[in-house]
Amino acid sequence: MRGGFWGVRLCCIGIGGEVDALRCKQRVMRSWNYGRSWKMSEQPSKKFGFSSRGRRSVDQPISYLIAKAVENPDLISLAAGLVDYETLPGEESLEILKDILGDKKRSEAALQYGMTEGSGELRDELYKHFCELEGMSEAEFTGSAKDIVVSTGSQQLLHMLADLVLDEGDVVISSWPSYFVFTGVLSAMGSTVRSVDIDEGGMKPEELDKMLASYEATGQLDRVKMVYLVSYHQNPTGITLAEERKPEILEIVKKYSKNHKILIIEDAAYRELTYGGKAPASMKVWDKDNEYVALLQTFSKPFAPGYKTGYGLIPTDLIDGLILNKGGRDFGSSNLAQHVLAEAMRRGVFKKHVEKLCAKYAEKRDAMLEALEKYVGPLAPNEIEWTNPSGGLYVWLTLPEGIDTGKDGKLFAKKLEKGVIGVPGVYCYPDDPAREIPVNKIRLSFGTPTKEQVVEGIKRLGEAIAHVLEE
Ligand code: PMP
Repeated sequence: MRGGFWGVRLCCIGIGGEVDALRCKQRVMRSWNYGRSWKMSEQPSKKFGFSSRGRRSVDQPISYLIAKAVENPDLISLAAGLVDYETLPGEESLEILKDILGDKKRSEAALQYGMTEGSGELRDELYKHFCELEGMSEAEFTGSAKDIVVSTGSQQLLHMLADLVLDEGDVVISSWPSYFVFTGVLSAMGSTVRSVDIDEGGMKPEELDKMLASYEATGQLDRVKMVYLVSYHQNPTGITLAEERKPEILEIVKKYSKNHKILIIEDAAYRELTYGGKAPASMKVWDKDNEYVALLQTFSKPFAPGYKTGYGLIPTDLIDGLILNKGGRDFGSSNLAQHVLAEAMRRGVFKKHVEKLCAKYAEKRDAMLEALEKYVGPLAPNEIEWTNPSGGLYVWLTLPEGIDTGKDGKLFAKKLEKGVIGVPGVYCYPDDPAREIPVNKIRLSFGTPTKEQVVEGIKRLGEAIAHVLEE
């Protein structure tokens, strides 16, 4: 089990803070105040009388990784979920910025405060984008541009939606494993996170049904407020929720929405990063009256996280509350960023960029899969497996039972010695009180390392695993 400073989870490795700490020490030091190593739940509260929520804030164990990077600057990080440095749209951004700031009227509009819910121009572009992804006309698709809220990263939307619908003790059902930064936030807010197994098609609908039925049978259905799933190339497994499961899951949630609606958050952060083949439709297609599903996307993965701009198509009944919630936080995300992004979409720059990114990541994904086949698979042919993602940034590796990939296990030390690091799987599971966390998983990311580093990193990982298996 997790616990203590390191143990809460590799929170910062999962978010925008999925900083490639081990390769970019100085950059990290500048953007993260990581010198501290206190446990949030201890020292500061003595000085400031922290609230119970404040005391539950999670630790930042990445400082441990930074310390390791200081010791070994040649370490290859397959841990961070950052996007590829070489693909960042610097020139495209500069051109658009020059055009906007060079025009007095546009410049004034962009540099002034904007609307809490986001700029109308961007929301119109985003609604078109949603329709294009579904292959539907605006008349065919659900909701409207008015149901879109632009946020400071999709992380902010996740947080605001949780804030809006969850009281302490309420239940959120997530997948097992899941995007651990959000499930960590939920736990810190005092929610109970329960989890449903996944297979190669994502969350299993029958398991979700069973869990909801058990809450109903014990008279506790009113506690269940939310179902959370990462539907495309999931962080951390790379698995995509099968299209045919989407209407099924929606129907199950409707069936158990008795005294109140249960909100489904479909977190589609990696949707555009689909490498070949058509990505499945989102659940929104079946949510015809825009009632149950909040579909969340972001510019962080398919364009540039520096814009820190996310957006969601939100059930109509939640929109006003959500805008009030956001108003109280920041009365609107960066207006300048929104102007640039709307222009990038209008000019087709965004679309072109996504195509470029997909080609680059597909190569690195293939390199990682081939290297796993060559250097890791043969070490224990029937006991080692990994996912084969159709997009996104992650591969989920399962090692033979009994191999502990955690920070205190032998493999972790060996990996550091060989010069490679991934995210120990234990940090990627929600704090479900009813489950035992498996220790033999690793999340591997091909986001920031070059293709050559990906191959070398997996080779080193293979050497470390071989060493542990031989012991
Ligand atoms: N959802 C998922 C599944 C993620 O992996 C991330 C970032 N790692 C986010 C949401 C949040 O991203 P952002 O706030 O940058 O949009």
